[in-house]
Amino acid sequence: MILESFKLDGKVAIVTGANTGLGQGMCVALAEAGAKVAGVARRDCSETAKLVEAAGGEFFEVIADLSSTEPIERIVESVVAHYGRVDILVNNAGVIKREDADKYTIEDWDTVVNVNQKVVFFLSQAVAKRMIEAKHGGKIINIASMLSYQGGIRVPAYTASKSAIIGLTRALANEWAKYGINVNGIAPGYMATNNTAQLRDDEKRNDEILGRIPAGRWGTPDDMKGAVVFLASDAASYVNGFTLAVDGGWLSR
Ligand code: NAP
Repeated sequence: MILESFKLDGKVAIVTGANTGLGQGMCVALAEAGAKVAGVARRDCSETAKLVEAAGGEFFEVIADLSSTEPIERIVESVVAHYGRVDILVNNAGVIKREDADKYTIEDWDTVVNVNQKVVFFLSQAVAKRMIEAKHGGKIINIASMLSYQGGIRVPAYTASKSAIIGLTRALANEWAKYGINVNGIAPGYMATNNTAQLRDDEKRNDEILGRIPAGRWGTPDDMKGAVVFLASDAASYVNGFTLAVDGGWLSR
């Protein structure tokens, strides 16, 4: 039956940026679908752990700063030591630095590109190696953005890195499909999280953005649930290299 293929019972999912926002919502969704969740974050994830446990799931916290590749092996080793395997990786952790392009610093550029792009590739590589060795395939889901398609304003490093994420998703999908690893993306629209707090606090920008969203509201972490469970499940086993927008219609305008 088709609904069976959406179930994630027995699967182990790693979600980065698990302490808050979209990452927290996706941890809960994956747990509700039956997966055991390992949440990676640079700070305490107790709020997420409580929500996952309230949904009847299991949560394992890995504290790591994803601004460099240094913790990658430890993350994968500790999840495999704890749960025995890894089937799903959600590359959700991301950072945005707003500044005029002519004033943008090398430091801000590196901060954004390291988290949003470099570490996404090397964590995916480390997880894919495990999946290939274990011969059970898996699902990798990269979190893109509307700025994977559009230029944005005052966010050059974010736009560059999120545009790269769509290309990386395609590139990895092509190489790893033969191992039963599906690499896909989700491009959230304008969602009410810390990432967009500055925009929502600015009344003018808030009104401009809301006025352009066909659905007429900001998205929420709950809006990510259907897409992440689908792409993490056997229901998506012939979906490769595609980025699905969850945007209230923003890209259709
Ligand atoms: P958020 O609340 O700011 O969450 C970002 C997450 O990434 C947080 O858990 C953050 O941890 C983590 N993170 C950032 N730098 C890190 C680092 N060096 N090491 C470890 N974790 C780090 O925003 P969000 O909206 O949920 O963002 C989740 C993803 O969706 C990001 O990739 C973002 O770019 C993307 N996205 C968001 C929107 C939106 O409208 N909100 C739209 C498109 C795409 P801390 O809490 O410690 O900072």
